[in-house]
Amino acid sequence: MDLHREDKPHIGFFGRCNTGKSTLVNMLAGQNVSIVSQTKGTTTDTVKKTMELFGAGSVVLIDTAGIDDASQLGEKRVEKTMQAFNLTDVSVVIISQNLAGSYEQDLLQKSKERNIPCILVYNKNDECPVNEQTLRFMQQSEADFLILSALDKTDVKQLSELIAAKLNQRERETENVLQNIVKQGDTVVMVTPIDTSAPKGRLILPQVKMIRQALDCHAMCLTVQPDELQQALNSLNRPPKLVITDSQAFEYVNKIVPRSVYLTSFSLLLAKQKGNFNLYAKGLGQIDRLCDGDTVLMLESCTHQPTCEDIGRVKLPAMLKKYTSKQLNCKAVAGLTDNEKDISKVKLVIQCGGCVASMQQLKNRLQPFVSMNIPVTNYGMAIAYMNGIFKRCSEIFFTNG
Ligand code: SF4
Repeated sequence: MDLHREDKPHIGFFGRCNTGKSTLVNMLAGQNVSIVSQTKGTTTDTVKKTMELFGAGSVVLIDTAGIDDASQLGEKRVEKTMQAFNLTDVSVVIISQNLAGSYEQDLLQKSKERNIPCILVYNKNDECPVNEQTLRFMQQSEADFLILSALDKTDVKQLSELIAAKLNQRERETENVLQNIVKQGDTVVMVTPIDTSAPKGRLILPQVKMIRQALDCHAMCLTVQPDELQQALNSLNRPPKLVITDSQAFEYVNKIVPRSVYLTSFSLLLAKQKGNFNLYAKGLGQIDRLCDGDTVLMLESCTHQPTCEDIGRVKLPAMLKKYTSKQLNCKAVAGLTDNEKDISKVKLVIQCGGCVASMQQLKNRLQPFVSMNIPVTNYGMAIAYMNGIFKRCSEIFFTNG
């Protein structure tokens, strides 16, 4: 899959059929991404397009099928449209023809529940000017709103500026998570096992991201496999400031890295950068409360071909069963839109680092569990906890801010 495409902020366009969603998406993208016609329900599935949005960088526009689609396949399409909310960082809810009612309320509510910044747009104002009732509806919603015609370039520019402003409010995830931890001239050792679960010929995104962030701090990076870690440490004139390991190698790496050197994992750094670290830390205690037969759900934000050494399907379930000595029902769900059918049976959710997801997408994904008070934690944090080193591995965040 194209990891980098998923890593970009997603803008979801929602509304009834024929409100001009596709025209708006096409105008923003500057090309015909979606088929536009006067026929109701022309967009039958979600369509994604990557574009450069002035002031916000690269984004993915998601054009969705109308939520009032009453055709034979309508139910499936509406389900897909609702799934698109899980991917959405900023939602644009579109109204036209002065039709504003329960459908729009529902879309606004979906955004609100997930804390998704929302823009309400009255479209086709040139064809059917907004009336007082619709204006009141828009004013009473908590969303920012715009009245426009998708065919007017100035109007569309206004929308793109508003989207960019909403995106720029999301600062934490674009911050460098290492910036208060390492400084110019420090050495950072990264431990990246290359086993059968490693992709062929490249590093995975969490590793690439941390190398880049260390370089942005003008630190020196030394990347090794676990077997070479001792040799790498011996070769340095002074100890590294930080060792970042793949969480799977925690037990081994913890024994080698002197206690005076900070140790953490790629997954913990991602949890700190874009996840809800405190929520994840709170969820760790649930590991000790698991009972025979309990369902534990591993959530992975990307879809990758599982291997015999797969972390979410093989290694983490084995560690959990060994640590708890319980017969657990461990399941893995990949991607950002699929979910377990009956989540009420889930006793613990373990989320991966989510390197391909945005902060908002991770929030969207976990929201159904959080709203049902189902404990949630993170891959790396759970592994550190089960190895008795969570305190050590999270020290850097509390010592260095
Ligand atoms: S499983 Fe999660 S952390 Fe690992 S590569 Fe996929 S999205 Fe990134």
